[in-house]
Amino acid sequence: MGDTERTAWTSLLVGLVVLALKGAAWWLTGSAALFADMLETVVNVAASGTALAAVRYSAMPADENHPYGHAKVEYFSAVLEGALILVAALLIMKEAWDAFLVPRAPDQPVVGIALSFVATAVLSVWGTILGRRGRALGSPALVADSRYLLADAVTSIAVVIGVGLVAVTGLLWLDPALAVGAALMILLSGLRLLRSSVGGLMDEAVPAVLLSQIRTVVSKEAEGALEAHDLRTRQAGRHTFIEFHLVVPGDMTVARAHDICDRIESGLRDAVGQAVITIHVEPEGKAKHSGVLVL
Ligand code: ZN
Ligand code: ZN
Repeated sequence: MGDTERTAWTSLLVGLVVLALKGAAWWLTGSAALFADMLETVVNVAASGTALAAVRYSAMPADENHPYGHAKVEYFSAVLEGALILVAALLIMKEAWDAFLVPRAPDQPVVGIALSFVATAVLSVWGTILGRRGRALGSPALVADSRYLLADAVTSIAVVIGVGLVAVTGLLWLDPALAVGAALMILLSGLRLLRSSVGGLMDEAVPAVLLSQIRTVVSKEAEGALEAHDLRTRQAGRHTFIEFHLVVPGDMTVARAHDICDRIESGLRDAVGQAVITIHVEPEGKAKHSGVLVL
């Protein structure tokens, strides 16, 4: 088992512990806000499980069945997660509506708040460690997972303070109001998730900064060629796909042209990381005099 996978397993276990704590806090108090907070953790545990599956499956090398690799599984599982988030938000709204119609004070606020506080502490500490480790291991799935955990911790802090206020002041409407607030936060993170996975599924081009980096590398390493055009890029998980046409003098030998391609390819891999590069070599009659020009 690799470091990335071990970290993903740890994250799943931590998530289950936090879920148990929050479940107990909700069960003891009957608070709508704590119910919302618990459902957010259900979504996060599902996200950790998805991250684990993505780490395992997307790491598989390309095979006969999937010649472009397995990286897109990450977007596919993100769509499932988005659906789960929607269900969680609807459940919370329903609970909040019921609590609004029949307001009641939380049953054992001190124990509930204490449990929720411990859960929040665990979330914050692990979320921070996970983010650092994910960046060190270069795993977008783990980094995304840590962002959910920290967002969950922020909601939890708000909910703990809110339930405390309800218990002290007796303002019972505060409980369902907080639950609705938490539901909106969950919906927002779900929309962000869907936005990024749809971009990946639709073969969106790489971000502008990376694209200009790619152009710079191509024109720097293409010495001996005349022009590069029709540059296309897309991303699938950790992999960046880059393809373009390279115009060389018509009488250049295949071996020379191939040397240029190899130089560009290694330059791009240094700059971009895991890149799948396809270069189509053309004689000078095909020059378009546009795109990336090289001397
Ligand atoms: Zn061409
Ligand atoms: Zn080659």
